[in-house]
Amino acid sequence: MKTGDWLKKYNIYLKKSLGQNFLATLDYANKIVQKAGITNDDTVIEIGPGAGTLTEALAKTGAKIFAFEIDLRLKPLLKERFQNYANINIQFIDFLKADLSKFNKPKYVANIPYYITSPILEKIFLETPDFQLATLMVQKEYGERMLAKSGKNYSPLSIFVQFFCNVEKLITVPPHAFIPNPKVDSVVIKLTPKHNIPDIDKNNFFKFVHIAFSQRRKTIKNNLKSLFGDKTEDVLKKCNIDPKTRPENISIEKFIEIFAYTK
Ligand code: SAM
Repeated sequence: MKTGDWLKKYNIYLKKSLGQNFLATLDYANKIVQKAGITNDDTVIEIGPGAGTLTEALAKTGAKIFAFEIDLRLKPLLKERFQNYANINIQFIDFLKADLSKFNKPKYVANIPYYITSPILEKIFLETPDFQLATLMVQKEYGERMLAKSGKNYSPLSIFVQFFCNVEKLITVPPHAFIPNPKVDSVVIKLTPKHNIPDIDKNNFFKFVHIAFSQRRKTIKNNLKSLFGDKTEDVLKKCNIDPKTRPENISIEKFIEIFAYTK
């Protein structure tokens, strides 16, 4: 049965407020699971199974699937759809409040609710630092920001994601693949954790990056004045950075170098 048929059967109307754009058929779901390279040895966490289309593609690999869905209306539908699968465990709670401490080296595969993209990433990185990979479908605009190494899409989100992970784009998914059709393309992004994460105060580093980007059209010198005052130019020179550079042209490595002078 297609997603639309399941929704009709249970008389479920999708809610924009929960980021509910469901995959219409198994086609893209199968593609995503295949690109993520899921096998029956894996433990997979899915955020927001919805009507279970991606979940079904995941379950067919034989992997152990743990899904978190906030919308209780989907419970009877998912119960029927997966009544013959022993490898699926669905909890009807807010993923952002889920206890992830029992998971060992999970892989994330999800078409995530767009309105909480950043909190989801934060939770994955900070609460399951041993995760093996995260294959996530996100709005194209978010994907471009995660991938950017400089320029107009480069932002605190790029630095946050690339601090923890290598980022790769797997596929673009057009609006017609979803019910209802979103206005924009989506992309599937693969995040693989880095092993040599710098040993710095992460919280303060990300706060510092936000300050550095507070006015992205202005120079780095201007943005960092509130932190370093008269010494701003000196600090930047010590890091071999032209004070007139814009934040969007400064690499993560250089931001880490400047951050060392905040102490
Ligand atoms: N996986 C399905 C698919 O691809 O067809 C649905 C994806 S839809 C983009 C996002 C799903 O996340 C919806 O089912 C929505 O109800 C659920 N969701 C939204 N906020 C959530 C939260 N805080 N915790 C868990 N699930 C959430």
